[in-house]
Amino acid sequence: MLCTQHKLKGPSDDELSTFAVLRRVYIERDEVKQIASILQRGDRIHLFRVGSLIFHAIGQLLPSQMANFHSATAIFPVGYEATRIYWSTRVPNKRCRYRCRISEDDGRPLFEVRVLEHGMEDLQYRDPTPEGIWDRVVEQVAKLREESSMLKLFTEHIKGEEMYGLTIHAVMRITESLPGVENCQNYQFRYGRHPLMELPLMINPTGCARSEPKVPTHCKRPHTLNSTSVSKAYQSTFTGELNTPYSKQFVHSKSSQYRRLKTEWKNNVYLARSRIQGLGLYAAKDLEKHTMVIEYIGTVIRNEVANRREKIYESQNRGIYMFRINNEQVIDATLTGGPARYVNHSCAPNCVAEVVTFDKEDKIIIISSRRIPKGEELTYDYQFDFEDDQHKIPCHCGAWNCRKWMN
Ligand SMILES: [Zn+2]
Ligand SMILES: [Zn+2]
Repeated sequence: MLCTQHKLKGPSDDELSTFAVLRRVYIERDEVKQIASILQRGDRIHLFRVGSLIFHAIGQLLPSQMANFHSATAIFPVGYEATRIYWSTRVPNKRCRYRCRISEDDGRPLFEVRVLEHGMEDLQYRDPTPEGIWDRVVEQVAKLREESSMLKLFTEHIKGEEMYGLTIHAVMRITESLPGVENCQNYQFRYGRHPLMELPLMINPTGCARSEPKVPTHCKRPHTLNSTSVSKAYQSTFTGELNTPYSKQFVHSKSSQYRRLKTEWKNNVYLARSRIQGLGLYAAKDLEKHTMVIEYIGTVIRNEVANRREKIYESQNRGIYMFRINNEQVIDATLTGGPARYVNHSCAPNCVAEVVTFDKEDKIIIISSRRIPKGEELTYDYQFDFEDDQHKIPCHCGAWNCRKWMN
């Protein structure tokens, strides 16, 4: 159909006269992806309910937990939480809420169910398996029904993992996409890995995940990028103290490039929803290799101040953005930082973070390490120190050589 201005003079076979579609149209919605995003958002407003099951949190698994936290038919993520609405064990023909949780006890999964029933005290069940709990519940319900001569309950069809919601298809597709689950040796994958789960927590250059009240966080010991992890090769000086003519010229061109960056960076980047996590910074134009893209701006503070601030920010539930320059100094971009703090980590980055000295002040500049076409997301390698299982942060950069963990 054409607008009035472009309307053809006479009737034409090429022009539609109506937008009606006289056939069945299928719209493919990625429902599991939608559910995954609902499940991991701490401040979500939507309720995810399948039949008599209400989901609260999907949880996560650390590398050391993979071996023990699964059966052949289900994965048991620590922090998983759902409410099952089921028959009461105390009042015949009444239903109540069973709040199901998975936590860890001495390297093994611990299943806990709290029974919430109106006008009654909460009941608690604990067991190393979901069957251990639900067999007991179902048995008591069956007995109560028998006593009040109600219809018999067919207990053999009720499975603990199912009551927990762990075998529901949408949930299984999400648990099967949790980072590292391919190490669950005895588990029979039904859907295989899908890159559905974004990072469960906001990750920032201090390496500390933001602690969200509704999402379990495994980050207890924040750390900052070490001076040793910023490769010496990237460090250069702009003080102009080098002697050879070539170096002088090189230094001059670099310092003028830095001066230009002060006004030019706005033309280099734009902020948008990241393909990796949260917000990301993208190339606003084609960037040549070795271009100074943007400065990591913030307040330069000493270690002690950084540690104090980190605690304050944590208590305020803020995303912490800090970048270590050297052994004594840290750039704090949490409150005063520019958009450079939104550059995400990648295992195959297109930029490097370089510590440079300009007019005797240390600056951190994000520099392209290869040619970057317009519209590509900017990344650099955060180079976190290797951490033990307790402090692992999953990586979702999607690079072919992704290390799966950021530390
Ligand atoms: Zn037109
Ligand atoms: Zn990665």
